[in-house]
Amino acid sequence: MTEIKCIGCGSILQTENKNAEGYIPQSGLNKEEPICQRCYRLRHYNEVQDLEVDSGDFLTMLNSLYETDSLIVKVIDIFDFEGSVIPSFNRIVGDKKVLAVINKIDLLPRSMNTSRLVERAKKMLKDEGITANDTIAISALKGQNLDALLDKISSMSEGKDVYIVGTTNVGKSTLINKLLEDNTGLKNVITTSNVPGTTLGMIDIPLGDSQTMYDTPGIVVDSQISHFVKSDDLKYVSPGKEIKAKTFQLNEEQTLFIGNLGRIDYLTGGQNSFSVYCNHHLTIHRTKLDNAEDFYLKHYDGLLTPPNIDEPFLSENYDEHLINVDAMSDVLISGLAFISIAKDAKVKVRVPKGVNVSVRPTIF
Ligand code: GDP
Repeated sequence: MTEIKCIGCGSILQTENKNAEGYIPQSGLNKEEPICQRCYRLRHYNEVQDLEVDSGDFLTMLNSLYETDSLIVKVIDIFDFEGSVIPSFNRIVGDKKVLAVINKIDLLPRSMNTSRLVERAKKMLKDEGITANDTIAISALKGQNLDALLDKISSMSEGKDVYIVGTTNVGKSTLINKLLEDNTGLKNVITTSNVPGTTLGMIDIPLGDSQTMYDTPGIVVDSQISHFVKSDDLKYVSPGKEIKAKTFQLNEEQTLFIGNLGRIDYLTGGQNSFSVYCNHHLTIHRTKLDNAEDFYLKHYDGLLTPPNIDEPFLSENYDEHLINVDAMSDVLISGLAFISIAKDAKVKVRVPKGVNVSVRPTIF
């Protein structure tokens, strides 16, 4: 294909990758003034779409942040702390102020106390090596706590520019779109004048007269489950609405499959209760441990879908974690599920290679 450029942002148009710069559906290419999907949505719907960049461009973008005098708003997915961590974040941020925004709190049971959640989140951030000056829990999708977020941004930024950063899927675009929707003043501004800049795909949104908020592109990090799932199937995997637990009474030597992505072998601990919190589309299937391998190979593209995967995860492309879990702890499979286990247990957790598995005191 000869190179055709988007009349909005100047990026080279391509029809292959929906999430990458310059994507245009085939039909759009025949138009007299071709415009990439991202610019199109921004112009016609005031809607920001996250742009995925590769790690080289991402680092260049972050390095350019280093030079600025600004407030960094770091968006984190409550369901995927590890997948939300940007490599070398602290180094790049330098001594700028950081506001950590814990997103998707609507996914947690309503009974959960938000201040306790923020305390827990702070500890988790510390464990992940992220230093933040302040932390707030919100739901971008449901518009929970957005006024408080704007107040914090306003007081912490002290008139400086604001950069919204995060890995893909943490909800950055949902947040920005919600802020635009709720603030008619901003909405008008973005329609006409702003298209994604060619420089590193940032979108700038004026905040008042002399301040700008920048939406930065996201990056998929290796520990994110989205790495292993086709983009159309992510809706079946990422926890989408309030999560319900499915509870199983397990005996030793039994296995639970979480769709075709996760597998938990229950090794020792006597009769025990396992509550799995995940996207309700995923099939949770119990089987005998000694039958689990055959079961997986037979059903990975049938009973255990969604998501659809082309190949089963075999030993060269999965990781196994042998874990001793204390009572009232959660095993957390990044971006996929929490599993709350009632009593002390020894389990083996199998996940696609690189996906993070950790144990935390239960957050429920
Ligand atoms: P981005 O890649 O960081 O821009 O993430 P998106 O804004 O595209 O969001 C990724 C997915 O998370 C989408 O399916 C959103 O609907 C969902 N999402 C974003 N914010 C929230 C939230 O506050 N709650 C819930 N339940 N889902 C959210």
